[in-house]
Amino acid sequence: MTSSPVLTFNDGNTIPQLGYGVWQVEDDVAEKVVVQAFEAGFRHIDTAKIYGNEAGVGRAIQRSGLKPEDIFITTKLWNADQGYESTLAAFEASLDRLGLETLDLYLIHWQQPKQDKYVDTWKALIELQKQGRVKSIGVSNFTKEGLQRLIDETGVVPAINQIELHPFFNQAELREFNASKGILTQAWSPLGQGGELLESSVIAQVAAKHNATPAQVVIAWHIAIGNVVIPKSVTESRIRENYAALDVTLDETDVQAINGLDNSAEGAGRIGPDPAVSDFA
Ligand code: NAD
Repeated sequence: MTSSPVLTFNDGNTIPQLGYGVWQVEDDVAEKVVVQAFEAGFRHIDTAKIYGNEAGVGRAIQRSGLKPEDIFITTKLWNADQGYESTLAAFEASLDRLGLETLDLYLIHWQQPKQDKYVDTWKALIELQKQGRVKSIGVSNFTKEGLQRLIDETGVVPAINQIELHPFFNQAELREFNASKGILTQAWSPLGQGGELLESSVIAQVAAKHNATPAQVVIAWHIAIGNVVIPKSVTESRIRENYAALDVTLDETDVQAINGLDNSAEGAGRIGPDPAVSDFA
C-alpha cells in the first residue's frame, strides 16, 4: 500500500499530506468510517469539537489497535470556547473525548474577527504546546491580517492554516502568503463538497488521461500543489478510492489546466462563509 507523503511544519514535526475529514458524520458512524479509513491506509484524521464526533473518532482509534505514534489526529477549538482559560479547559475536554494523552495538532477553528479573542486564544495554544499537551498548533479560516497579528503579537507562527480550497476556489494569494511565512496550507472541502466540481469537463479529461476518477484527480492536484488535503466520504468504496489517489501523479500540464478552473465559468468559487467577515455563535 502506498503511504502518504509527509510535510514538515515550521516546528519540525511532520503531517501526512493526505488525511480523512469527518465533518457532518454522526458520532457512531464516525467510529465505523474512521476504522474503514485506517484500513484503507489513512493515518491522519481531521475532527473538531463542533462536529460532535471526537468520542467516535477516539473509539475508532482504540478499535484500530494503531499506536498513537503511528497516527496523526487533529481537532479544533470551537468559537464559543475562545479566550485563554476557556481554551485550556476546552482542550482537555477534547482530549478526554478522543481518549488521547497528547494531540498532534490543535487548531483555532475560526478567526471570529468581531469576537476578537483570537490572540488570547493563540496564547493558550502556545502554552499547551510548551507543556507538551499538543505537538503542533495552528489555525483554520484565518486571513492574512489575522495571521500577521498572531505573529506580531506573540512571535509564534502557526504551523498550518486550514482554509476552504478546491479547484473552483484555489486561494493562490493566501497560499502564497502562508508559504511566505512558513505556514502550511490545508484544504477543507477539497472536493468542493462533491458537487459540480466532480462533473467538470476539465477534471474529466485529466481523469481519462490517467485512468483515474474525478475525485482522485482533484486529490492528486492538491498533493501536487503542496496542500495538506482531507477529503471526506462515508462510503467505504470511496474512502478506498480517495486513498488510492496517492497512486495518481499529475504532470505540469494537468496542474495548469486544473488551476484554470479557479472562479471560472465552470464553478462557483467560495462555497462556505468568508472568514474575514463571518462570526458564528
Ligand atoms: P469534501 O470536499 O471532502 O467533499 C465530501 C463529499 O464529496 C462527500 O460527502 C461526497 O458527497 C463526495 N465524495 C467524496 N468522495 C467521493 C468520491 N470518491 N467520488 C464521488 N464523490 C465523492 O467536503 P467536506 O466534508 O466539506 O470537507 C472535508 C473535510 O474538511 C471535512 O470533513 C472536515 O474535516 C474539513 N472541513 C473543515 C472546515 C473548517 O472550517 N475548518 C469546514 C469544512 C470542512
